[in-house]
Amino acid sequence: MKPNPNIVHLPVYQPGKSTDEVKRELGLKEVIKLASNENPFGSSPAVREALLGRFGETHIYPDGASVELAAALSQHLNVEPNQIIFGAGSDEVVLMTARAYIEPGDETVMATPTFPQYKHNVEVENAKVIEVPLRDGTHDLEEMVRRIGERTKILWICNPNNPTGTMNTHEELVRALEQIPEHVLVVLDEAYVEYNTSAEYPDSLSLLKTYPNLLILRTFSKIYGLAALPIGYGIASAEVIHTINQVREPFNTSRFAQAAALAALGDQAFIADCRAKNREGMIYLEEQFKALGLSWYPSVANFIMVDTERPAKEMFEALLRQGIIVRGGHSLGMPTHLRVTIGSREQNEKFVSALKTALHEVAPAAGIGK
Ligand SMILES: *Cc1c(COP(=O)(O)O)cnc(C)c1O
Repeated sequence: MKPNPNIVHLPVYQPGKSTDEVKRELGLKEVIKLASNENPFGSSPAVREALLGRFGETHIYPDGASVELAAALSQHLNVEPNQIIFGAGSDEVVLMTARAYIEPGDETVMATPTFPQYKHNVEVENAKVIEVPLRDGTHDLEEMVRRIGERTKILWICNPNNPTGTMNTHEELVRALEQIPEHVLVVLDEAYVEYNTSAEYPDSLSLLKTYPNLLILRTFSKIYGLAALPIGYGIASAEVIHTINQVREPFNTSRFAQAAALAALGDQAFIADCRAKNREGMIYLEEQFKALGLSWYPSVANFIMVDTERPAKEMFEALLRQGIIVRGGHSLGMPTHLRVTIGSREQNEKFVSALKTALHEVAPAAGIGK
């Protein structure tokens, strides 16, 4: 059997270590995972209620079109239900979008480093990936627009960018959209939008009417705390949503994910509380980094990328030995940075204390990073 040549070079996704694995391997009692940008406060209590009532429904297929959730979400976002498509996480919406629009030999423009799923899915479709380096940790939208050609199908914008947490402003985004030809689909990934507290962050929904080539991606995996029941969504013109729906599997999101998302959406007080606690945690970490003489990228997400000025892999391992799991920049082309999820107050304090120890253990890197 000969596999599709488009995929033979693709790596199999390597998940970060789980807390259980680290506990077992290192014989630790307590392990804190700040590596996947999960919500340290879980999800709304309403989610538990919604799920408990549904244990008798395991044999029934979900509503493929998620009609009830689409109705609630369309009200919440002030768009029409036919402007929304759900996926098993927004990862699946990325996959469906690539499958629906990309033909072999097409081109696609994205930043680097950014969220890896864009490149992964585009390569599966045998398109050419044009990567534009970040400028000060932020998408260089002007250069990205300049790299658009006749065969460009999709331009990907991760805002805030993962892994750097930085954002492009409303003004920057509009300036780019004004210059992007209509044959290019602009995928704007806003997985962390609910964490934003900056007035300059784009009001992307308000742009949908003016730019029919804009597709916004959001998810219930991050602030809504439903990463265990993946469900994410795309918002665009009815025409774009129809096209993506043509490649959607019939029952791609589960009954439980839909019910959990509906309950989670209804508890906006929980979301506001998580946003406020995240902001406090962010300020605390920035103060600590400053006191330690470290620099970081200004983040509007629930994670922050700090420059340890030491080899990231060694720092990662020094933190792991103390029961703290973070993401090392060494696999992301940022050899001295760590990406850390903002945790609960207690988790943040434990991380800072472990970071201080690690900074003593690991010698500063000469000649790398800066
Ligand atoms: C986490 C994340 C997603 C996807 O999450 P799902 O669980 O698939 O919904 C998408 N984009 C970015 C930038 C992310 O960080």
